[in-house]
Amino acid sequence: MKKKKKCRKCKNQYTPKLINGLPTSAYCNKCLVIVNREKREKKREEKKLREIKKKERKINSKKYQKKTWSKLVKELDRVFSLFIRQRDGQCYTPTPKCNNVLQNGHLISRRHMSTRWDEINCNGQCGSHNNLHNYQPEIYTSEFIRKNGQQVYLDLEKRSRQIKQWSIPELEEKIQYYKNKLK
Ligand SMILES: [Zn+2]
Ligand SMILES: [Zn+2]
Repeated sequence: MKKKKKCRKCKNQYTPKLINGLPTSAYCNKCLVIVNREKREKKREEKKLREIKKKERKINSKKYQKKTWSKLVKELDRVFSLFIRQRDGQCYTPTPKCNNVLQNGHLISRRHMSTRWDEINCNGQCGSHNNLHNYQPEIYTSEFIRKNGQQVYLDLEKRSRQIKQWSIPELEEKIQYYKNKLK
């Protein structure tokens, strides 16, 4: 006669399968199916959790943040340039020599992050004048001072010397702000 055993889950008597005289399971057949399913579900949950944690670690990693930051700077450059070109519609220093492809001309170089997206520092310029600004900055500068006055220029210069580290949320906010302004 086969030896009966008490199922660990339902506590009913069952006849276990034996290998080398030892029971292969502490559960009856019915409960074994349930227990195995629960184990699989638990494993799936754990895997999901591990993936979420992995993703979180990635998002918080320096490398990922740096990459995201660079992408956002590029995108803000693009959107802000469209805004400036739309706002101005013509070269800041119009001459018959202007080519009509308008660009976003930075009076103070965009290397200065604090004034990179400053609406006062940036004006629509044709490609020729934007390029010329690298060699003869006095053209744009004197036109700027003539239009705005010396004090506005000095304030801008002071602003440009401030150290500004744009955060990812700040960049995202600015992108949205200028996107909303585009027609
Ligand atoms: Zn059972
Ligand atoms: Zn021009």
